[in-house]
Amino acid sequence: MNIKIIACLNDNYSYLLHDESSNTVAIVDPSEFEECDKIIDKKYKKLDFILNTHHHYDHVGGNEKLKKKYNSTVLGFINDKNRIPGIDKVLKDNQDFKIGSSYFTTIFIPGHTRGHVAFYFKKEKMLFTGDTLFSFGCGRVFEGTYEQMFESLKKLKNLPDDTKVYCGHEYTYKNLEFCLAFNPNNNFLKKKKSEIELSLKNKKPTIPSTIGNEIRANIFLRFNDPDVKKAINLENSSDIEIFTKLRELKDNF
Ligand code: ZN
Ligand code: FE
Repeated sequence: MNIKIIACLNDNYSYLLHDESSNTVAIVDPSEFEECDKIIDKKYKKLDFILNTHHHYDHVGGNEKLKKKYNSTVLGFINDKNRIPGIDKVLKDNQDFKIGSSYFTTIFIPGHTRGHVAFYFKKEKMLFTGDTLFSFGCGRVFEGTYEQMFESLKKLKNLPDDTKVYCGHEYTYKNLEFCLAFNPNNNFLKKKKSEIELSLKNKKPTIPSTIGNEIRANIFLRFNDPDVKKAINLENSSDIEIFTKLRELKDNF
């Protein structure tokens, strides 16, 4: 499975997947038609599947025009069947779906929205996380509860360390600044900072991250770290309390 990162809108990423053995083409979260179609039209001239992690416009904005041009099948989570433009096939939690010669599993991860899912390609070790898990951050809690978001992130945290994480936005640098502010003694973060700066300076995406890196760097997965607890003055609080506090601090960072 070949993957291409397409920068869309201000800071969104759409992901184009090509299974060479079967010449199957799919896209995850087409934010807009133009940027996505430029590559599809030039390289593949076809688009079999459109996968949506959630219904927000910056993840589904290209659905209808792409579907019309390429007669693609639009896939989305069952709870969002009335909110994903052009949806053809509904997916359930834990459902496997075949894309050419490989397949992905849908993982239900509510919190950012009530119908948010991740797509997990186990064999390829790839995970598409939309606006739930970002590189060094997590999405805002819009429709769900803090508890749901916390549980969703824990689900993703349990995947193998070498799973590559492809998220919906280039927020890595801002996220890293937040992590450093409240996890100041995390040496791995300090090391990552120059790496991230270099990527951005060269106008390269900082994506993909990996689950292993997220566990070491992402403060929203580090509610157990004494350094974090101390920084926010909640040394005797529960994990969910720590998580909630961090998410609230990030909203105003
Ligand atoms: Zn969103
Ligand atoms: Fe988004």
